[in-house]
Amino acid sequence: MSSFCITGGRIWDGSRFMEGNLFWDDGGRIQALGDVASPGKAGPLTETGALGKAARLADYVFDAAGALVCPGLVDVHTHFKGISTDLYGMQAEMACFPFGVTAAADCGAEFGSRKELDNMMVKNVVFAAVPIRNNTADLTAAEENVQKFGDKTIGLKVYFDHEVADTVPLKQVCQYARRLGLKVMVHCSDQSSVSMADTLNVLSKGDILTHMYHGGPCCGAVDDFSSLQKARERGIILDTGCAGYVHTDFAVLKKAVEQGVLPDTISSDITKLSAYVRGGRYGLTLCMSMFKTLGVPEEKILRAVTLDAAAALGQNWGHLSVGGPADITVLRYGNQPYSLTDREGNTMEDRKGYECVLTVSGGQIVYRSL
Ligand SMILES: [Zn+2]
Repeated sequence: MSSFCITGGRIWDGSRFMEGNLFWDDGGRIQALGDVASPGKAGPLTETGALGKAARLADYVFDAAGALVCPGLVDVHTHFKGISTDLYGMQAEMACFPFGVTAAADCGAEFGSRKELDNMMVKNVVFAAVPIRNNTADLTAAEENVQKFGDKTIGLKVYFDHEVADTVPLKQVCQYARRLGLKVMVHCSDQSSVSMADTLNVLSKGDILTHMYHGGPCCGAVDDFSSLQKARERGIILDTGCAGYVHTDFAVLKKAVEQGVLPDTISSDITKLSAYVRGGRYGLTLCMSMFKTLGVPEEKILRAVTLDAAAALGQNWGHLSVGGPADITVLRYGNQPYSLTDREGNTMEDRKGYECVLTVSGGQIVYRSL
């Protein structure tokens, strides 16, 4: 078994920052974390000199000076090839590992099978798709989709678009979900004629509204974000589903953040459409960068892609702990310029941003930027 050490970085364990080293082995477990010089030998770092530069810390040592050492990130909203859409879905590892993501939810599962999810290196759960036709939820199709993925199914996904005239189909879906003990995730968008307030009123604690910063006549800014605020007080999870420039109106996003209406979870809604534009750099790290640009505290950004994201999915992911799985990400915040233009022509850009430099999944190094 080989041992690994990341040294010199600032560690975010999912809920707090600390200094020190992180040790793991390729059996897949974290061996030591924090102010320790070696696995199993607790003691101040100073015993080995300046972060053990001369000492043998592990078989492989990664210098993370100036970087953030985090749990593998959790992306609450993705689309995997062959699961939610053959046309736009991305090969799971490609959608996740280059952006530091080691666990993700497919939001709209209807193709493929449980076996394909089991074969992915990315840890995963799914929201099964519920088709809506003529303002009626097709619960027979929903049932098939739920069954197909077994206990990987944690919820149902409903798209609010031009097929939806009011909240009747959402009520049908919520009733069905409650019977099965599943969550509901609603894709709200500028294509829908149902107000965000009406949509949120149907949801219950633990349900997720994604694309919370979309534009158009039904967007959250219409009532000065009061519906979103009230929904959060009721325990409804507000998710970004950034989707590049498609489901986010940057004017709405900026106004919301100015008013303190921050997301519970930051997710990418990554597809081929968003990932393969502008140099293929679109992913969860870029979504995080937007919030950093807008001045959101780093701790809030990190929670929204680690512990809070895992909690939204009801999974024990998104934290670093001794004995826990070695799902680890090293991020740098630096010279990562980005520039996006939404459908309204609003821009979002910065000269700096987050970049993933190392991703470890189950103890294995699955991505390095260098
Ligand atoms: Zn989506």
